[in-house]
Amino acid sequence: MLDDRFRAHFARSAELFAEAAGRFPGGVTHDGRAAAPFPLYIERAEGPYKYAVDETRLIDYWCGHGALLLGHAHPAVSAAIAAQAARGTHYGAGHELELRWAELVQRLVPGAERVRFTSSGTEATMLALRLARAATGRPTVIRFAGHFHGWHDGLAPGADPEDPHAGLLDALVAHVLVLPPDLDAVAAVLSSRDDVAAAILEPTGAAYGAVPLPDAFLRDLRGLTADHGVLLICDEVVTGFRLAPGGAQDRAGVTADLTCLAKILAGGLPGGAVAGRADLLGLLAAGPDADRAGRIRHQGTYNANPLSAAAGVAALQLVATGEPTAVAAARGRELVAALNEVLRARRLRGWTAYGDGSIFHLFADPSAPVEPGEAPAGLPLAALKRGGDPRTLAALRMALQLAGVDLMRGRSGFVSAAHTSAEVAATAAGLDAALGMLQSDGVI
Ligand code: PMP
Repeated sequence: MLDDRFRAHFARSAELFAEAAGRFPGGVTHDGRAAAPFPLYIERAEGPYKYAVDETRLIDYWCGHGALLLGHAHPAVSAAIAAQAARGTHYGAGHELELRWAELVQRLVPGAERVRFTSSGTEATMLALRLARAATGRPTVIRFAGHFHGWHDGLAPGADPEDPHAGLLDALVAHVLVLPPDLDAVAAVLSSRDDVAAAILEPTGAAYGAVPLPDAFLRDLRGLTADHGVLLICDEVVTGFRLAPGGAQDRAGVTADLTCLAKILAGGLPGGAVAGRADLLGLLAAGPDADRAGRIRHQGTYNANPLSAAAGVAALQLVATGEPTAVAAARGRELVAALNEVLRARRLRGWTAYGDGSIFHLFADPSAPVEPGEAPAGLPLAALKRGGDPRTLAALRMALQLAGVDLMRGRSGFVSAAHTSAEVAATAAGLDAALGMLQSDGVI
């Protein structure tokens, strides 16, 4: 049986997970890394590959939760980190690399008149909300059902359609309006209320496009928010530097008031940023001449940390050429086509691969009215975010890992510029082998 094979093949990972159960809640250090019967343990990574402690090479589609557009251990990024590490990792002071880093952000990201670095994407969206509320003097924020903006209290409500809001203050939940991604719903709220500070969204839809939104939605939302004097916050933590060198906004020809960045921004090290209108970010200005009345305090020991800045500059210099984004997107499209070919050849209904450039998703639910190659439109949000039927997906994840392919959460992925057509072909062959295992096990 698949389960026995998995446990035998990944025996060392099983041992480490048994230890982890006594050290970490749930045995993991990030909700998304939990997996049944246990997650794999990795010991090194290079280019499109990572190597499990069980002497297995995996084609990797996590790519650092989307941070590694250039692939693992890219020579330019690794060299920049090593050089900076030897010169010190924290000065408690300004340094030239933070200027070069911000310069690249200003060059690439639409409307980045000023930049403030944070330590993560979560901190970036938290700061953007604070800026929006302070600038407008209004308390309420519109967010869209299922869109993820990090785990902080201010935007946790609505991220998971089934989340019971444990640990969140009711007063905070009351100031977060969770809307469907429907412009009429937004228009109705904006015409009937005057307490809305901002609308925030994942520009290509919930879970980096698992529930896709067309570019037109972003454009129309920009117009609608501007008409009502409401700020638009674009969360480009995943899409930034990936869908185009300037992110989803760049591609759609849109400029938000505030943009949240992380992941690719910091070249695979921790880091985030809020970029946007100078008047809004000006609320952060410190110093003797600052207007203290409206000022927001913002600290953070690791803001613009030299190591992250070094990695970020090295990565963004390459992103600025346009090549990594284009290569990864071309490979992503090739992969989606190859996966759908495998699904079609096996005549699997309810299965499909879809995506946007270098981001892709697999959907698998034998009872869903979907054909390979179709984006699964019209299905419930929770099903799309989950990727289909949990039992099928759990088996698929195990089988794919046995076949040497690691999809993010077993059902989606980020393609890097280090993935080549050889990895695409091996991934398609891996999916075919995995489906064979599912068939022998009676899962499909
Ligand atoms: N926004 C989006 C769209 C994200 O996908 C994530 C993380 N996956 C975040 C914000 C939070 O970023 P971080 O994990 O760096 O806190």
